[in-house]
Amino acid sequence: MTNLVTHVADAVEEHGDNTAIGFQGAETSYEEFWGQTGAFATALEERGLGQDDRVALYLPNVPPFLIAFHGTLRAGGVVVPMNPQYKAREIGHLLDDSGAKVVVALADLVPFVTAVRDETSVEHVVSVGGDAEGASTLEEFLEPGDPEIAERDDDEDAVQPYTSGTTGQPKGVQLTHGNLASNANAASELVPDGIRPDDKQLGVLPLFHIYGMTVVMNTALFNGAAYYPMPEWDAQEAVSLIEDEELTIMHGVPAMYNDVINQPNAEAFDLSSVRLCGVGGSGIPVEVLRQFEELYEPTIYEGYGLTETSPITHFNSPIEGRRVGSIGKTVPDVDSRVVDDDFGAVPPVDEGPIDEDEADLHEITGEIVVAGPNVMKGYYGLPDANEAAFTEADGRRWFHTGDIGYHDEDGFFYVVDREKHMIVTGGYNVYPREVEELLFEHEDVADAAVAGIPDDRRGETVKAFIVRTPDGDVTAEEITEYCLTNLAEYKHPREVEFVDELPRTTTGKVQKFKLREQEGDA
Ligand code: AMP
Repeated sequence: MTNLVTHVADAVEEHGDNTAIGFQGAETSYEEFWGQTGAFATALEERGLGQDDRVALYLPNVPPFLIAFHGTLRAGGVVVPMNPQYKAREIGHLLDDSGAKVVVALADLVPFVTAVRDETSVEHVVSVGGDAEGASTLEEFLEPGDPEIAERDDDEDAVQPYTSGTTGQPKGVQLTHGNLASNANAASELVPDGIRPDDKQLGVLPLFHIYGMTVVMNTALFNGAAYYPMPEWDAQEAVSLIEDEELTIMHGVPAMYNDVINQPNAEAFDLSSVRLCGVGGSGIPVEVLRQFEELYEPTIYEGYGLTETSPITHFNSPIEGRRVGSIGKTVPDVDSRVVDDDFGAVPPVDEGPIDEDEADLHEITGEIVVAGPNVMKGYYGLPDANEAAFTEADGRRWFHTGDIGYHDEDGFFYVVDREKHMIVTGGYNVYPREVEELLFEHEDVADAAVAGIPDDRRGETVKAFIVRTPDGDVTAEEITEYCLTNLAEYKHPREVEFVDELPRTTTGKVQKFKLREQEGDA
C-alpha cells in the first residue's frame, strides 16, 4: 500500500503537536489536520465516493485546499486542481474532461461552477469561505470520522493537474501516488539535513500548480514541518510573514525574487531566518539572482522541472553545489539526456555556462529528455499526445520536455529556452532568453521579455517588451544601441516597446502568446 497520504500519517504519528498549517495568525496542529482530512474522507465515503473519483479543487492557497487535497487521497480519490483565476469556460473544459464528481470552490467562484455544471458530471459543490447558491458549505459537507487510508498502488492516479496552457487546450496530466511521493522525497533530500520538523515554509507558490503542491506543501507535510499559505503574491506581505514568523524556507518563481529586490524599501528587509531559497518555473535572470544575494543572506538555488515530472528533475542543491546560470544536476533516481532529432546523445561541453553564440549552440544543444519514477503515467485520454511525448529507448520510457539545453562534463544542465519560443529571423535562430538576460543587466530595466513578431522580410523579427524602473528613462534607441554593442547584429531587438507590466501566468511565466497577440491588434 503506497498511498502517499501514509507519509502525512507518519508525520502525524511523530510530530502530532507540531504546527502543520499557520494561516493569518491561527495554527493547526498535525493532530487537528489529520482529524480534518478524516472528516473530508468520511464525507466522500458517506456519499458513495472514493476510489478513483475525481475531486476538483478551485481554491487559492487557503487551509481548506490542504484538507480537501489530503482528505481526497485518504479516501482513494484523485485531486483535480484548478487555477482559481480560471473562469467558467476554462473550468468547464477541466471538469468535463476529468469527469469530476465533487468541486470544492471558493464561495465567490461557485457561480462559475454553476454556469457549466449541466455539461459536467458534478454531483456536489462545496463552498469555502461563505454560503453560495447551489453549494453546501465545507462545514455542512464534512462528516466526523477517522477512516482507514484507502489502498492505492504506486501506479494509481493521485492528482490530475492541467498543464499551464500558455498554448492550446490544457491537457490533464496523470500523476500517480508513486510519482508524487518519490518527488517530494527527492526534493526533501536535496536540502541540507532534509526538510526538518522545525522548518517553516512560505506557501505562496500556487497549490494548484505542481511546484507549490509537491516541493512546498508535500515536503512540509511529509516531514512534520509547518506550511504558511498565502492566497496571493504580494512582496511586502510575503516579507512581513517571513520576518514575523521567522520562516526558514522560501520557494518562488523568478518574478517574485525580482519583485522583492525592486521594492522601494528592499534594503530594510530581514530575511536572515531563511536557510534556503528555491527558484524554478522559469529561468532566473543571473542579474536578479546576483542583486538578491547582494542584499540578503540566503542563497538562491535554482531547480527545473515540469508538471509532467511531478515536478523536479534538476536542482542546484546546496549539497551537490551550484553553478549560477545552470538548472543544476539531475536529481537522484531521475535520468536525463540531451538528444538530437534522431534521439542521438549530444555530448557534454567541458564546463558551462558557455558564451552562447550561434555556431556553438547548434553543436552543443538538443532537447532535454528525462526518465524516472516521477514521470507521469500520461496525458489523460490523449493517445496522440502521449505518442508524441515519449520515446522508448534502452529499456526506458523517455519524456520529451520541449526545452532546448546542453550539459557539461560535471553533470550540470543548462536550459537555453523552450523549443517553441525560438525566433527564426532571416534564417537565424534567436533564443529570447539570451537577449532577456542582457536586458536585465541594464540599470533602467525592471522587467523584460523578448518575443518574435511577424515580419514580411525576415519571417519573424525580435521585439523587446520592457518595464522601466521607477526612475528609469532609457529610450528605445538606447536599448537598441545597447543590444547591438553586446550581441550579434541579428539578435538585437528591432522593435522596443515600454509597458507597465508583462502578462504572466500565476506561476510566473510570461505569456508570450499574449505579447504576440497584442501585436496583431496593434
Ligand atoms: P510547468 O509544467 O508549468 O511546470 O512548466 C514547465 C516548464 O517551465 C518547463 O518545460 C520549462 O520550459 C520551464 N521551466 C521550469 N523551470 C525552469 C528553469 N529553472 N529554467 C528554465 N525554464 C524552466
